[in-house]
Amino acid sequence: MKKLQIRNSTEEYYCGKIVCVGRNYVEHAKELGNELPEFPLIFLKPASSIILSGENVIHPSFSQNLHYEAELVLLIGEEVSKADKEKADKTIAGYTVGLDMTARDVQNELAKKGHPWTIAKCFDTSAVLSDFILRKDYELNFDESIILKVNGEVKQNSQLNKMIFKPADIVSYISGIMKLEKGDLIFTGTPAGVGKVIIGDKLEAELTSVAKLETAIT
Ligand code: ZN
Repeated sequence: MKKLQIRNSTEEYYCGKIVCVGRNYVEHAKELGNELPEFPLIFLKPASSIILSGENVIHPSFSQNLHYEAELVLLIGEEVSKADKEKADKTIAGYTVGLDMTARDVQNELAKKGHPWTIAKCFDTSAVLSDFILRKDYELNFDESIILKVNGEVKQNSQLNKMIFKPADIVSYISGIMKLEKGDLIFTGTPAGVGKVIIGDKLEAELTSVAKLETAIT
C-alpha cells in the first residue's frame, strides 16, 4: 500500500490498486490506429509502481520505446460496488495529474499475440503522481487541460472535455466489475501526443488549475 499526498488535508489515503483506462480520447485512439471503444478499455497497475513528483522514472531495460502518457487521475474516497453514475460520482474524492509510463514496443508485441499488457504497464516507477486536491477545495469543470512537456517542449495539450468516458461513467463501469476501495486510483486515459523518452529526459505534467508534477528518466 502506497501512501498518497493530499493537499490541505490530514486525512490519510493509501493506494491499494490502480485501474487505468485506455483509448479515452478520440485523437489518441486514432494516433495509435485503434478503434473507438464502446466501453472503457481497462487494465491494472500495481500500487508498488507509484512514484511521486520529484522522484525518477527508471527506464525499463526490456524496452527500446518508453512512452509518457499524461492523464487525469481520480482518487476514490470510499468503498463502492455496482454504483450508478450518481453514486459513482460521489465516491470520487479528488483529482491530480499522473503519468502512465508505458513500454510501447512491448505493449504492441503483447497486443499482437493477444496477451495481457502487464509487462508493458506494471514495471516499477511506471505510475508518477502529483499531490491530490480534494473536491471540497476544487471541483472540475472540464475546461482544464492536460499538458505534458519533455525538456520544456509541449508534447500533449488537451482539454478534459475531449474525454470519451467521463469520470462518473468510468467509476460506475469499473465498480460493476470490481469493488473500488478508499485510496484506489483511476488513470482516465491520455490525450494525443504520446511519444518516446530516453534516459536524461525531464518531464513536466500539469492539470491546469489542479496539479503539476516533474520527473526525469534515469
Ligand atoms: Zn494511459
